Amino acid sequence: MAKHDFIVIGGGHNGLIAAGYLGKAGFDVCVVEANDEFGGGTRSGEVCAPGYISDLGGMIHGMISRTPLIMNDELDLQGKYGLKYIRPDALCCTIFDDGTNLVLNHSIDQTVKNIAKFSQKDAEMYPRFIEYMGNMIKVAGIGANTPPPKWGVMQSALDSSPEGRDFLVTINSSAQDIVEQWFESPQLRITLTRWCTEMMINPTAVGTATLLYFVLYIHQLVPPFPEGGSLRMVEALKACCSDYGVTLKTNASVVKVKVDAGTAKGVVLESGEEIAASKAVICTANVKDLVLKWLGDEAPANLVRQARNLKSAEFVPFNMSVALKKVPDFKTGNEVKAAYCIECAPLEEEYLRTFNEYRFGKFEPNMPLITMPCLWDSTRCPEGHSVVNIYNYAPANLYGDYNNWNIYKEEMADKAWAFTKDLFTNITDDDLIGDRWVFTPVDYEKWNPAFHKGDITHIGLQPSQMYGFRPFPNSHNYKVALDNLYVLGSCSHPGGGIAGAARAGVQAVLDDFDVNFNKLVKK
Ligand SMILES: Cc1cc2nc3c(=O)[nH]c(=O)nc-3n(C[C@H](O)[C@H](O)[C@H](O)COP(=O)(O)OP(=O)(O)OC[C@H]3O[C@@H](n4cnc5c(N)ncnc54)[C@H](O)[C@@H]3O)c2cc1C
Repeated sequence: MAKHDFIVIGGGHNGLIAAGYLGKAGFDVCVVEANDEFGGGTRSGEVCAPGYISDLGGMIHGMISRTPLIMNDELDLQGKYGLKYIRPDALCCTIFDDGTNLVLNHSIDQTVKNIAKFSQKDAEMYPRFIEYMGNMIKVAGIGANTPPPKWGVMQSALDSSPEGRDFLVTINSSAQDIVEQWFESPQLRITLTRWCTEMMINPTAVGTATLLYFVLYIHQLVPPFPEGGSLRMVEALKACCSDYGVTLKTNASVVKVKVDAGTAKGVVLESGEEIAASKAVICTANVKDLVLKWLGDEAPANLVRQARNLKSAEFVPFNMSVALKKVPDFKTGNEVKAAYCIECAPLEEEYLRTFNEYRFGKFEPNMPLITMPCLWDSTRCPEGHSVVNIYNYAPANLYGDYNNWNIYKEEMADKAWAFTKDLFTNITDDDLIGDRWVFTPVDYEKWNPAFHKGDITHIGLQPSQMYGFRPFPNSHNYKVALDNLYVLGSCSHPGGGIAGAARAGVQAVLDDFDVNFNKLVKK
């Protein structure tokens, strides 16, 4: 039986990050990945035609780019392993049903001018809003890259300063609450709350205000994306892991975590192969699989109850990509091409109602988020051509049944393409190259078994499942019920997305095995 110090379950970006730091600390690590390639939700590929690269999952590396992993290049991903980030001119904009648009440019002055098209009062308030959110981020940023404090300790610490108390109010508010307090124009309110829906939660839900801090980022350093597609980050991580001697196993689907006397001892793969871990097993796949399947009878009853009750994202992706012989021009004006995320929305009542309707299985693909990284990245396709990604939020249970996605997939793709094509002045079906690539939530779950029913956050980002309560109450130390068993990555603090969450978690693991993390990463 193969034996390593640590086994990491799941080879998404978080599994590889955990393995990279453990390898750097000198441990013998093995990453087991169910798929035939690494990357999980952070993959890209030539799915429409050769030479045309699409991001198939995560695209914008906003959160991870603000961690010391990237800012200090702790694993040399940029310095040695070829990762190169590109920053678009602006992060986001909205095209409204009436053909108008609002771009949040990198420049605050330009953004203020854009807002004034809709409301002079809002244009005047906007710089004050950024300043207010700047104070919030000073508080929110403190725990983002380290293990979280215990829930009660955190609340008490926050309650001891005016900024902390403001922060408590914000995390207990919805994005819609906050924008209604500050602004009158539906166009600005929608453009701000739409970004918060990247949490895959209704913008009227408590907790979604947390992502409003992004306004500060877009006027400082616009969040970047990797040259050549998201898989480039994965390739850099794999190269780093290999140099540290990490064993990287694909087609290695875990079916059981072996436990002896309350201590995790290793894993059993679908093939029947057993791998032993002398120090710990680390799960970066879905914690519900860990507790409800792989631990079997070893999972304490209380943990099983907690795992069953975990909330999911409120909506999931329906995504497509097309390769085109031209670069699209927009009817609303090409100023929207400054933004990486070009989002479409009806005005406020219908916009908000759409999120409620996902709950009841209703869906029309008419609120796409359009991205064209090729505008900044010449490696994505031949010059003068384009790759356009068309991403809609959607209900997991389409018309009440998850399996309906298999029936309506092509019809929905036709509608999504028709809606998007109509935004352009110069694109017809004759401009399509190769095949359109379409992924429903069902496709996403097959592509990445950690995305249950297409949930890209593994478990929802509701406030009751954040900080030291992610995934379970009392998870501040990243341990799950048994000795030598840890949950890192999307299901732990600071949570899902391309956030490099495992960097925070691996500090707790290393601490338990007497490694000084600060010394390890010091350059
Ligand atoms: C369309 C789309 C757009 C997105 N856009 C963004 C974005 O712009 N920015 C952003 O920050 N995030 C975005 N996301 C979310 C982001 O991609 C994910 O949150 C992120 O990739 C999660 O990384 P992870 O390493 O934590 O988990 P994952 O990438 O899910 O990795 C988990 C791994 O575990 C493996 N696994 C599962 N079961 C087993 C098993 N039994 N045995 C072994 N291995 C197993 C899986 O195959 C997978 O490789 C997007 C996602 C999608 C789908």
